[in-house]
Amino acid sequence: MLTSEQAKKNQEKYGFNELTEGKKKSVLRIFLEQFKDFLVIILIVSAVISGILGDAESAIVIFVVITMNAVLGTIQTVKAEQSLDSLKQLSAPEAKVVRDDSVIQIPSREVTIGDEVILEAGDCIPADGKLIECASLKVDESALTGESISIEKNLDEVEEAAALGDQTNRVFSGSFVTYGRGRYEVTAIGMKTEVGKIADLMKNTSEKRTPLQVNLDDFGKKLSMLILAFSVVIFGVNVFQGESWGSAFMFAVALAVAAIPEALSSIVTIVLSFGTQKMAKEHAIIRKLQAVEGLGSVSIVCSDKTGTLTQNKMTVEDYYVNGKRIPAGKIDLKNENEKLLLRFSILCNDSTNTDGQEIGDPTETALINLGTNLGFDAMQVRERYPRLSEVPFDSDRKLMSTAHNMNDALLQEGHMMIVKGAVDVLLERMDRIRVGNTVRRMTDSDREDIAVQNMQFSREGLRVLAFAYKQMEEEKEIGTEDEDQLIFIGLIAMMDPPREESRLAVEECRRAGIRPIMITGDHKITAAAIAKRIGILKEESEACEGAVIEDMSDEELQDFVEGISVYARVSPEHKIRIVRAWQEKGNIVAMTGDGVNDAPALKQADIGVAMGVTGSEVAKDAAAMVLTDDNFATIVKAVENGRNLYQHIKNAIQFLLSGNFGAILVVLCASVAGLPVPFAPVHLLFINLLTDSLPAIALGVEPHSKAVMEQRPRPMSESILTKPYLLSIATEGVSIGVMTMAAFLIGYTSQNAALASTMAFGTLCMSRLVHGFNCKDDKPVIFTKRFFNNKYLIGAFVLGMILITSVLMIPGLHGMFKVVTLSLKQQMTVYGLALLNLPVIQGMKYLKER
Ligand code: ATP
Repeated sequence: MLTSEQAKKNQEKYGFNELTEGKKKSVLRIFLEQFKDFLVIILIVSAVISGILGDAESAIVIFVVITMNAVLGTIQTVKAEQSLDSLKQLSAPEAKVVRDDSVIQIPSREVTIGDEVILEAGDCIPADGKLIECASLKVDESALTGESISIEKNLDEVEEAAALGDQTNRVFSGSFVTYGRGRYEVTAIGMKTEVGKIADLMKNTSEKRTPLQVNLDDFGKKLSMLILAFSVVIFGVNVFQGESWGSAFMFAVALAVAAIPEALSSIVTIVLSFGTQKMAKEHAIIRKLQAVEGLGSVSIVCSDKTGTLTQNKMTVEDYYVNGKRIPAGKIDLKNENEKLLLRFSILCNDSTNTDGQEIGDPTETALINLGTNLGFDAMQVRERYPRLSEVPFDSDRKLMSTAHNMNDALLQEGHMMIVKGAVDVLLERMDRIRVGNTVRRMTDSDREDIAVQNMQFSREGLRVLAFAYKQMEEEKEIGTEDEDQLIFIGLIAMMDPPREESRLAVEECRRAGIRPIMITGDHKITAAAIAKRIGILKEESEACEGAVIEDMSDEELQDFVEGISVYARVSPEHKIRIVRAWQEKGNIVAMTGDGVNDAPALKQADIGVAMGVTGSEVAKDAAAMVLTDDNFATIVKAVENGRNLYQHIKNAIQFLLSGNFGAILVVLCASVAGLPVPFAPVHLLFINLLTDSLPAIALGVEPHSKAVMEQRPRPMSESILTKPYLLSIATEGVSIGVMTMAAFLIGYTSQNAALASTMAFGTLCMSRLVHGFNCKDDKPVIFTKRFFNNKYLIGAFVLGMILITSVLMIPGLHGMFKVVTLSLKQQMTVYGLALLNLPVIQGMKYLKER
């Protein structure tokens, strides 16, 4: 064991316990990568050519614009990476170590050589080391050895040179505890561990692209091909109309650059990475970016009861001893059996409460706390009756047993086994009962009494534990086979009140077309009582026990799940089957889990949700999302965020595509009508690279709206580019195109091509800035408060307007940007036409809504 002083020294000496990650890209590299794009390269080449041909101004402007665009791109990329990094930090694994004589929980990276680490089922092993304590400890080392069966550990000496899988007295970083308890001393950390030695093989954990990104990349590619073909045609037409080869080429390139939506998938990254920051603040940490998209489609939420729907603040309410119900406040320690039950509940218990710091399962802490209230110091009791061996609790067996040396006046001297667990399970394993200070055979009527009392407690929503014991003839290591022929001593009932917010969250789920389902290890009646209180269940018939589904075929189960809202006494295998049944019916399922056995179900679910506070490290590792407050309401909030983010991405893309479409339409119309080229290349680049990306990003960080929770979940298979969506893009593009074309024609008929081009450029640029507001929602927002609720969008609009107005008004910039001076009337025409897009497009939305 180390003191915190020694630990600090060791950390300085040996460094942190972490695997050095693959090299991080430097900011310079990210900046240079912005120029890697095929179109940007063509643009640079053509700028150089036009520079050589004598158009130095154009060349300079293009370079400046490209550089500014690259700076913008770099800032976005770096910020997005930073926010994803900080997200990773938030879900970093933790470990329990003994320092300065007490057990503390620290981030695994702070574990150092010499630390004593405590292991329990569900813990990830943070560093390599040698066991000093071991109670039925089993470890899954498959990540290291490929062996999928858990290895039983012990304290026997093993040759140092033995193969990894045979070193049964050592544990290794990268593996996890599947069963039992243990304690070990750390001998190697970070890159010096066995997993560190093969770390290079494991580095390739780069973030996968999300389905939406894949979808958009695919669409982007097809669109690019179309636009390239179009640009080639425009190039031909311009040359045919007498344009020089050089300028026709330059225009075709600029058109391609402006029209190809190269930013589609990076918009997704940016919006998701900032969105996940917001979600982290609201207690949902996203571990897999794909989950955010999935969240928007969730139609079934399967949730644990204890701690997620309830507060997990257990307090003992009642005892049942000597055939009588005794409220906690009336427990009398002069009564032998009541005292014995209290003592058993402290001994057959792994939790601690040191100076108010509770470590362990709340069910067990409740028992310790009751002891403290009655003047029993748990540590003293445990010292007096030391634990000899144990069979740890597991949620399949629903029992826990410990063996002690009981040299006690109340009982005969000798070795004693204490068993606690679910009443229905224990009842089958008891054959005697202790009443007063006699032990007698258990009769059918005793059983009946206990069952009736259990039922009564459960109806009140109480969680019930039964306690039993037996004398052991010899000092032997106890096993599950010993959990039989026990003597009943009493029941302890505890209350875990529902969380206040659960009821509202359940209601909100229903409104949003999401079905909430409770899956719990607890008793059916208790579970149903709680579920009824929070609105998950209406009729008792909607509750069943996990065992019921055991003999059902998958097809039968698919029919069955429809009618069930509460599953009680569920084993981890049942969880997987329930998830799968719903998935096969075409649902996207979110499922919560905390235990080590929950990992497969968390992986099977579309969105595995782990508990950040009470969950095991293994569950967190398997989950796509971790709740830092273990709260069901947080899942519902995360769904709302997921739906909002998806909508925002959609809006940003709609903004980009409709604007691009408008520009193409103008070029197309001008070509068909045999008019001069409407834009100079620098115009298109200015719009595309400078005034366009900011509103798009601003739309991505639009304030969230509750309205998304009034809709049904979006089918996961539905492509983002639905017909109505593409139709909106097209009609809005037409509006922008028509206004721009009008400006062009007004300029052309009143003066010449140069004026026409200036007016078209001004109108297109401003139309697109105005159009940002149109893309806030599918519905009209013009007369609502929402119109002004996005300060980033307003900022992007104002900045864009300042830029374009400067270009139009400052004579010094005219040459560079290929514009001519506008009269006041012409200026008003440009602003007016651009602004007209607002009422026109809002009007279209209004008509569509009706
Ligand atoms: P949920 O799955 O909603 O979290 P839960 O916490 O009740 O529900 P489990 O922890 O699997 O589920 O508990 C199942 C049953 O096992 C409980 O109803 C209780 O009877 C018994 N039990 C729970 N904790 C312990 C424990 N520490 N020792 C002995 N028995 C326990």
